[in-house]
Parts: sequence; structure tokens; C-alpha cells
Amino acid sequence: MAIILDGKSLSATLRIRLKKVLEEGRAAGKPLPFFVAMQVGDDLPSTVYIRAKEKACEEMGIGFRHHKLPAETSMEDLRRAVRDVNEDDSVHGLIVQSPLPGHLEEIEVQRMVSPLKDVDCFHPENVGLLYIGKPRFQPCTAAGVVELLLAYGVEPAGKRVVIIGRSVIVGRPLAVMMMLKARGGDATVTVCHSRTPDLPAVCREGDILIPAIGKAELIRGDWVKEGVVVVDVGINRLPDSSQKRGYRIVGDVAFTEVEPRSSAIAPVPGGVGPMTVAILMSNVMRAAGYDVNPAFEQ
Ligand code: NAD
Repeated sequence: MAIILDGKSLSATLRIRLKKVLEEGRAAGKPLPFFVAMQVGDDLPSTVYIRAKEKACEEMGIGFRHHKLPAETSMEDLRRAVRDVNEDDSVHGLIVQSPLPGHLEEIEVQRMVSPLKDVDCFHPENVGLLYIGKPRFQPCTAAGVVELLLAYGVEPAGKRVVIIGRSVIVGRPLAVMMMLKARGGDATVTVCHSRTPDLPAVCREGDILIPAIGKAELIRGDWVKEGVVVVDVGINRLPDSSQKRGYRIVGDVAFTEVEPRSSAIAPVPGGVGPMTVAILMSNVMRAAGYDVNPAFEQ
């Protein structure tokens, strides 16, 4: 039976640790970290994600504001709203939740956020710092994957890591982190995507397999090698009439097929998702001047 990489309980432990640093910092006169999540429109999954971030802030004693803007907000109005938060010294972390309505250009919006408040690590300056191995902030989901592995004693150094997905949010920063000569890095990284031929064969080469695709249960049992460590990043809804809400959440991995062949596996839900939130909290604290990077080194 595979070891379950329990991101939910690890995230809770990490947040308790961060909270202690926060309380000590507050007692020593450091500012109250304050986080703003901006949302344009009312995409339902986005609202759920923002609620999870709000809850984490509440638990930790971090200030939080959900800044909602109507779906028809123009680029100019969004720019003004972002600029106001950028200039507000009482706010340390700002994210503009994606996806954005079609008329707003994501990359353009990511550039508007002050790099010093960019706790999602999307601004080109912060992406560049990560790329050269001097990150200001941790890319939340990618760092969540790495911290989950390290916490369970899975050292990526020297391993063959296969990442599926090349998005700027997950796949790309994760590939950079895991190839860097740094803590949690030093792996031999292969990045697959929608144009990769014979994906199952490439997956079978991975000592560590990290799907970040968004296709429910795409990865089957015979796509992995015996003893693999799997960190499933995908979050997908499958219709399920037995559930009150009419669907259930599954990952990119067919769990019941892949788990028996794995030495360790992060489930969905309860794996990477909660880790992402914990890393975000550490980034907000870092933006407010708390020394929490790398956040979770013992
Ligand atoms: P995305 O749509 O931007 O990227 C998906 C990637 O998968 C692309 O690079 C694409 O080339 C690749 N892909 C698509 N179909 C493929 C196929 N058949 N074979 C191989 N590669 C294929 O998505 P994203 O934002 O990177 O998110 C990916 C998944 O991770 C989604 O399910 C998302 O909900 C989830 N996610 C989870 C967290 C978390 O905190 N756990 C955070 C962000 C995203």
C-alpha cells in the first residue's frame, strides 16, 4: 500500500508554525500582514478558492479583504483598482484571481501587480528571480508540491521527474524549481504537454510523476512504473448523482489503479490543494517583512 502524502494535515502543521512566527513578530512590533484577493466577475470555483484563502487568513490572524469587481470591469478600471492596492502601505499581498473575463489580458494584469506584493509569483520580475535561483516569493502550487515531497522524505535530487503540463501557474515554475541546484531541486526533469507523443511511455520513466493537466483520471495504472511517487495536481469535477452537490472532485490520476503501484501518492482532494494555500500564507508574511523563506525548513 502506498504512503498517502497528506497535504491537508501537513498544511495545517505548517500554518500553525507560521502563526507562531507571526505572533512573535507582532509582539516584536512587526506589521499585521494583510492580503487582498481581487476577483473580476463571479466564476464559482474562483469564489471557492478565495473563500479557502480567506479561511486560512482568519485562522492565522492575517488581515484579508475580498475585493470584488463586476465582470464587465474595463482594463482601465482594473488598472486603477490594482494601483490603489499597490499604493496602500497597509496591504502586503495582492492576487488577481484567474480566470479573468475574456476581455482582460491575464499577462497584462499580472504585470500590474507590484512585484513586492505579487504573492502568487506571477509578475515577470518574480518569475525571473525564480528562474535565476533567487526567488522573492515561492510559486504557490509548485512550492506546495516540493514541500509535500520533502516533508515525506522524498528527495528529488538525482531522480527522474516527469511533469505533465507546462502552464505558467504550475508546470513551468515546478520544472524550474525541480531542476535548480537548490533544496528540493537537482532532479532530471521531463516536461510533457498536449503535443507529447506516447505519453504513457514517458510517464513510465518517472521516479516521481506530477500531473498538472486538468483531465479527470487520464493517468491509468499501466502508465506508471512500480514504486513511483505520484503528486496529483489536477482538480476536476466528475458528475456524481450520489453527491448532494451533483459532482465529486478527482485528480488527473485514476487513483484506484495507480495507488497500488505507487510507493507514495498525494490524493485529490487533500494533497496539493491545501499546500498551495499554506505557501500563499508564507508569501504574504514574507511580503510583510517576516523571515519565512524557505518557509518550512526544519
Ligand atoms: P492549464 O490548462 O493552463 O494547463 C494544462 C496543461 O496540461 C497544458 O500545459 C497542456 O499542454 C497539458 N495538457 C492538456 N491536455 C493534455 C493531454 N491530453 N496530455 C498531456 N498534456 C496535456 O492548467 P493549469 O492551470 O496548469 O492547471 C492544471 C490542473 O491543475 C487543473 O486541474 C487545475 O485545476 C489544477 N490546479 C491545481 C492547483 C492546486 O492548488 N492543487 C493549483 C492550480 C491548478
